[in-house]
Amino acid sequence: MSDWVTPGGLISGRTLPGLLLATGQFLPVTDIHRLASTSSLTRLVMNAEGQVLDVGRTVRRATRTQRRAILARYTTCMVDDCHLPAHLCQIDHVQNWSDAGATDLDNLGPTCQFHNRDRYQHPDRYQLRRVGDNRWAFTYIGPRPGRLSRVD
Ligand SMILES: [Zn+2]
Repeated sequence: MSDWVTPGGLISGRTLPGLLLATGQFLPVTDIHRLASTSSLTRLVMNAEGQVLDVGRTVRRATRTQRRAILARYTTCMVDDCHLPAHLCQIDHVQNWSDAGATDLDNLGPTCQFHNRDRYQHPDRYQLRRVGDNRWAFTYIGPRPGRLSRVD
């Protein structure tokens, strides 16, 4: 690769398409094709300090930085009327990981162990709503009347 780049960072003589990296090295299109066929692409969103906030579907568990950002946004479990402090909660995917939910900051929030499991087992019993620009909340609405079995 480096033989394609002059000491000043310019591509010497060759005109094949490729990508000029921030390091000044030129990555030929053949290498880009090889990387694309043997790698997975992950979108990373970082904060001003360069800490990762969004990792898409590559990683299931929240990063330490994501957890810190979530604890700055929430004080309790994100289910209404549940008062368990956020720092004692699990970090939950608003759209469940099993339903293709991403491990992105905007799709994460704290839920206590009970609500994490109950929401996963009975998603129809919870109603999701946005709170402000960057938080979510769930309201427990209980079993839907049509799904209750009658006991005489
Ligand atoms: Zn809870």
